[in-house]
Amino acid sequence: MAEAGSFAEKVKQQADIVRVVGEYVRLKKTGKDFSGLCPFHQEKTPSFTVSPIKQIFYCFGCGKGGDVYNFVMDMEKCEFPEAVKVVAEKCGIALPRQKERSPEARKENQQRTVLVEMHREAQTFFVKQLEGTPEGKAARAYLEDRGLDQDAIARFGIGYAPSGGDALLRQLKPKYNEKLLVDSGLVSRDQSAGRLFDRFRRRITFPISNESGKIVAFGARALGDDMPKYLNSPESPIYSKSNVLYHMDRAKEALRRQDFAILVEGYMDAIAVARAGISNVVASCGTSLAEQQIKLLGRFTRRVIVNYDPDVAGQSATERSLSLLLEHDFEVRVLALPPVGNKKADPDLFIRERGKDEYLKLLKEAPPYVDYLIARARQMDLTTGEGKQRALNFLLPYIQKIPSGILRSEWATRIAQQLRIDEPLLRSALGKAAKERRSEIKTGPELIGRAAKPVERRLIRMLAEAQGFRQELAKHLQNARLYHGLETEKIFAALVIASLSGQPVQATEVGALLEERDRRLLFEILFEEANEPTWEEAMSCIEALQHRQAEQELADVQRSIEANPAAPELRGLLEKKQQLMRRLAAAR
Ligand SMILES: [Zn+2]
Repeated sequence: MAEAGSFAEKVKQQADIVRVVGEYVRLKKTGKDFSGLCPFHQEKTPSFTVSPIKQIFYCFGCGKGGDVYNFVMDMEKCEFPEAVKVVAEKCGIALPRQKERSPEARKENQQRTVLVEMHREAQTFFVKQLEGTPEGKAARAYLEDRGLDQDAIARFGIGYAPSGGDALLRQLKPKYNEKLLVDSGLVSRDQSAGRLFDRFRRRITFPISNESGKIVAFGARALGDDMPKYLNSPESPIYSKSNVLYHMDRAKEALRRQDFAILVEGYMDAIAVARAGISNVVASCGTSLAEQQIKLLGRFTRRVIVNYDPDVAGQSATERSLSLLLEHDFEVRVLALPPVGNKKADPDLFIRERGKDEYLKLLKEAPPYVDYLIARARQMDLTTGEGKQRALNFLLPYIQKIPSGILRSEWATRIAQQLRIDEPLLRSALGKAAKERRSEIKTGPELIGRAAKPVERRLIRMLAEAQGFRQELAKHLQNARLYHGLETEKIFAALVIASLSGQPVQATEVGALLEERDRRLLFEILFEEANEPTWEEAMSCIEALQHRQAEQELADVQRSIEANPAAPELRGLLEKKQQLMRRLAAAR
């Protein structure tokens, strides 16, 4: 974030959020604020609001909100430093000269540049091998047999690594030293003799590009029966397989436009789907998805249709990926393709045999992940109690990850029906599991409501904005522990800490410390119409909270009295009750 005194902070102070946002969204002045149609979700009436005074934005529909940098990061799908650059340019502020990097950093950077160049050369080499050699001819015949014509070969840069064992090596050796060659992963070293040789031999090659379209690795499929069938580049200074999604560089635009991704397992599947005219496809290029890959994808869309292979490995990869996607708040559907003839079908085989229209149709009908999981659970033996228990245990972890309580409840009913499980029993199991793993369950936006009471909202607003007495107010609240147990407790706690620091309170930064539902509530409160706060008003809000505290104490005392009427401390409890009742009566 924008640290005090940093360039980012200077830019933020000079930039006008209304002007910057206005370049993306048509804004209309409404009172003190501006509003328009939200660029982050589909809507017909404007719920997207920008405050020139607070220099923040918030959408009452989807809950996105923050400062000018958050807006640009979401809009341009970029990281913070890039957003600073964009805003600076828009406001005509000159960027500071890049600091000279440390010698090591510069060396690493140089090495990466060289490795990328080496991969570019290897790509040219593989393509030439496929086009112009007798061995390449056999490879082309194989590709044609798989339905990959000249057009597809050119479009996806498919090539061929010959069987010789050192053809690429001979090509690269004059230009690069041995260490670089080995570091690139294109060349391996023989363990015993220490001799160098080509990593890929007698294989069809598929270039794997990073997000910006630079080739950083290769995937290679054996032409004959060589094992393994698929061999990829090892991890290298320019390639980490958990950071890269195959076809991402070409899918970006379509992902953004269509706002969903099709996730497949391998490059052959991605190529088949892309050739069917569906560009928003990416492949994980490994059996299951890694966290960084999900984050990369999440910059473009939060909706995914998982279409992995139907075999056992594919099924468990699907389930592992589901868990991870749900944890990252993705909306997930699952496409499990029906067999073609008696063969289990991956996307590649299915499209070749049944055509792209059939595939598109199934894609449109792909069920939400819970349906897929129920279907999987139904394949288990449900005739015995243990079998049902197993099915339920299989489903539970996923159900718990559904953020919305309403949806969770609906699914409970459906599961009970489909698995023929007693519904109250199922609900209590869900409830119990939820309690034990509370931290894993998040509350969805539809449950937020406007729960906070007016007094709490007013105090929150004052803590955020009342420059004159914010610090004093924070002390009062903290000393009397007045916000403990409130629904808004965490918002108060964050604001009190910020106010006590004596620094200006930045809504975006406080928001970043909060859970999603609290962050949203904070922004909603900040955008409410409100009068100038006064100390008198603050004090009357505090009194209201004290009153509430006394009421609660009274209820607690009453409960203790009822629970344990013969206890020796009964006398003390009765006295306390009288005291509290007097205090409450006096306040009225
Ligand atoms: Zn929105």
